[in-house]
Amino acid sequence: MTDCCIIGGGIIGLSIARELAGRGLSVRVLARDASRDTASWAAAGIFPPAPDFAAASANDRLTAYSDRLHRSWAEELRAETGIDNELGQCGGLHLARDDRGVARLREAQSSWHSKGTRCDWLTGTDLAIREPALRAAVEQGRLQCGLLLPDEMRIRPPQHLEALKQSCRMRGVEIVPAAEVRAIDVADGRIEGIRIARSGGGLATETIHSDRYCLAAGAWSGDLAALLGLHIETRPIRGQIALLRLPEQVLTRVVNVGLEYLVPRDDGRLLVGSTIEDAGFDKATTPLVIERLIAFAHHVLGPLPGAVLEQSWAGLRPGSVDGRPFIGAAPACSNAFVAAGHFRAGLHQSTGTAVLLADLMTGRTPALDLAPFAPGRRPEAGSPDSVQAYLARAAEASAG
Ligand SMILES: Cc1cc2nc3c(=O)[nH]c(=O)nc-3n(C[C@H](O)[C@H](O)[C@H](O)COP(=O)(O)OP(=O)(O)OC[C@H]3O[C@@H](n4cnc5c(N)ncnc54)[C@H](O)[C@@H]3O)c2cc1C
Repeated sequence: MTDCCIIGGGIIGLSIARELAGRGLSVRVLARDASRDTASWAAAGIFPPAPDFAAASANDRLTAYSDRLHRSWAEELRAETGIDNELGQCGGLHLARDDRGVARLREAQSSWHSKGTRCDWLTGTDLAIREPALRAAVEQGRLQCGLLLPDEMRIRPPQHLEALKQSCRMRGVEIVPAAEVRAIDVADGRIEGIRIARSGGGLATETIHSDRYCLAAGAWSGDLAALLGLHIETRPIRGQIALLRLPEQVLTRVVNVGLEYLVPRDDGRLLVGSTIEDAGFDKATTPLVIERLIAFAHHVLGPLPGAVLEQSWAGLRPGSVDGRPFIGAAPACSNAFVAAGHFRAGLHQSTGTAVLLADLMTGRTPALDLAPFAPGRRPEAGSPDSVQAYLARAAEASAG
């Protein structure tokens, strides 16, 4: 019997486990899939600049809170495990190819300014000076102008995940691999036990007992929450990524064009992403999309002699209807908590989610009001951060 049992070994589950174990609790993590098969491993690792803490939306406050924590977590993780998650403020460029893109950048600029974020308008000439690899695209009219966000950061997700795992183990967390939750036994408004099957164990299940439980199973959380009588939608939204190895790095900053981006790595690799696809739980890559991503890299950077496609992969983002994650106590189950539905920002918001949820699970008052994230809320559609809004943007981009 542990104090806490976390369902899910992605960035959200591991971050919560690390935080709880750091507060002296005994913690077990149930992880069905290998790290590589999680959205967390698949992520690009872009952290847009954190908005001013007093910024209007609850999501923005969670991001700002998490952003600060990431800086201290990166140092702690390096000191504890020796793993550098490569968190760094490289800055980001947001570029426009055409007049529609320019109009979007104008809107984005006023939105960033209203959130107190540093954001400078760059002409094509300015762009070519800041990032010489963009010069040809500017001169040939493929890129018009852009915004420079000096506070944009990047992190390397596989390293961060591995550092979290090691830190968890050093704090005494038991991570149970290949353990799939099949059923949840609820009696008198409490979880009594969780039935799991281990891979290779056939139909046999074993029951796990804990004082408190947290559901952090990414895109699969909705189905598991239903076992608690809780309706939360965590719709899987596929994102594909291509990783190129270049003879030498050509970019210094993250480059964003609409929904697509280029993320330079210090070792010369260039990550090219991504898509917003409604493909159910299918996380296969598709050759056409990978070709399209590579074409995007060439559109921005030109021919890239010597570049090799090293790997490609896809992950399933857990999307929520109103664009806000579900963080809090499950309404009808006194020892159950939820942390799921972080969609495109789960890596960024993981530290804040972990600290706030650990506060709640240990009876402390969280530093942020968690009401907007309540798992029992009725999410309203229409938010620009929602799954629907992003699917519409993706459809518009592929049509135009
Ligand atoms: C292509 C792509 C790019 C992204 N880029 C960024 C980015 O730049 N910045 C950013 O902040 N975010 C980004 N994201 C989003 C981010 O990756 C996700 O929001 C985040 O990883 C979600 O983490 P999670 O732990 O909730 O889910 P996951 O990482 O998917 O983990 C879910 C866990 O639950 C386990 N599980 C599921 N069902 C069961 C079960 N029945 N029993 C036991 N365990 C179970 C799985 O095995 C897994 O361990 C990106 C995502 C993708 C796909």
